[in-house]
Amino acid sequence: MRWGLAGASTIAAQHMLPTFRALGDDIAWVASGTGARARAYAAEHAIPAVHDTLETALAAEPVDAVYISSTNEKHHAQALAAISAGAHVLCEKPLAMTLTEAQGMVQAAAAAGVTFATNHHLRCAGSHRALRALVADGAIGRVLSVRVHHAVFLPPHLQGWRINDAGAGGGVIPDITVHDADTVRFLLGEDPVDVVARDGASGLGAGVEDSVMSVWTMPSGAMVMAHESFTHRFAGTALELHGTEGSLFARGVMTQRPVGEIELVTASGRAPVPFSDHNLYHEGVRMFRAAVAGNGQPAATGQDGIHSLAVALAVREAARSGARVTVRTGA
Ligand code: NDP
Repeated sequence: MRWGLAGASTIAAQHMLPTFRALGDDIAWVASGTGARARAYAAEHAIPAVHDTLETALAAEPVDAVYISSTNEKHHAQALAAISAGAHVLCEKPLAMTLTEAQGMVQAAAAAGVTFATNHHLRCAGSHRALRALVADGAIGRVLSVRVHHAVFLPPHLQGWRINDAGAGGGVIPDITVHDADTVRFLLGEDPVDVVARDGASGLGAGVEDSVMSVWTMPSGAMVMAHESFTHRFAGTALELHGTEGSLFARGVMTQRPVGEIELVTASGRAPVPFSDHNLYHEGVRMFRAAVAGNGQPAATGQDGIHSLAVALAVREAARSGARVTVRTGA
C-alpha cells in the first residue's frame, strides 16, 4: 500500500512511519504547512516528497491511503479532501472538533466506498484484548464498575498546542479522555449514557484543561470513573474492572507499548493473566490494510471514532456546566 501523510507529526515519526515500513508499505509524501521544518522532517525520515497542502499532494501523486495526524482542527477538512480523491483514510483521534464534522467524515467515506478508520491503538493491545475476552467469558461475573487511571506526565516535546491552544483541539479531554472512552466501549461492549465531570488546570494547561475526572453511567448499570491528566509524573496507569465474581487489575496498560501486567482476583485466589506482546500500531495498520482488501473491519471504525468523541465532548460539557450531560452521538 502507498501512503500519504497529512501532518509532519511526532506520532507519525515515532510510531506510524516505522509501522508502515515494517509491514512493507511505501510513503509517497508528507503534506505539511510547516515549510522548512517539514522539508527537514522529510529528509530525516526518508520521505521522498513534501507538499504545502494535502490537496496539492493528492493532485501531484495519488496514493492508496492517507494517514492524518495533524492537529485536531485540521482532521475534518483533510479527511474530506482525501476521501474525495478516492483515498482510504486512517485518521487520528479525536476524529474532529465536533460531532457534526466527524459524522460528515464517516458519511463521506461511506458514500465514496473507501475505508475509514480511527487510530485508537489501545484496543489493539494484547492486554486490552485479554481483558475484553475475560469480561465476555464471565470471568468476573456481572461488571459493577470500571476505574480508568490515565493521569500521566506530558513530555516536554509534546507541550505545545496540547496545553495552550483550544483552537487546535488542545486539552487533556480530546487527547486522552477520548482514548479512555474507546477503551471502556471496547471492554464492555456498551456506550455511556451520561456523564458528570470536574476539570482543572493543575500546572500545565493555559486556556485548556490539563486534568479531568469523570463518572459515566452505562446501560448495564455499571459505573465508570475515569481520571486523565498531563501533570502526574509518578501516578502510572491502570485499568480495574470489578464484577460480582471477581476483579481484574491491569497496571501500566494505558500506553503505546505492549507492556504492563494483569491479575485476576476471584474467590479461588489471585492469578496472573498472560497476554500477547505484539506491537499495537502494527496490529492497527494490519487490520486497516485487511479492511481495505475486503477482509473485516478496521480495529476502530469511523463509528467508533464518533462514539469516543461524543463521550469526550460530553465530559467537557459536564465539566464546564457542572451538570449531568447525556452522551449523544447523533449517529
Ligand atoms: P505534533 O505536535 O507532533 O504535530 C502536529 C502538527 O503540528 C504537525 O502535523 C505540524 O503541522 C505541527 N508541528 C509539529 N511540530 C511543529 C513545530 N516544531 N513547529 C511548528 N509546527 C509543528 O502532534 P502529535 O504527533 O503529538 O499528534 C498529532 C495527532 O495525532 C493528534 O491528533 C493527536 O491527538 C494524535 N495522536 C495519537 C496518538 C495515538 O496513539 N493514537 C498518539 C499521539 C498523538 P502540519 O500538519 O502542518 O505538518
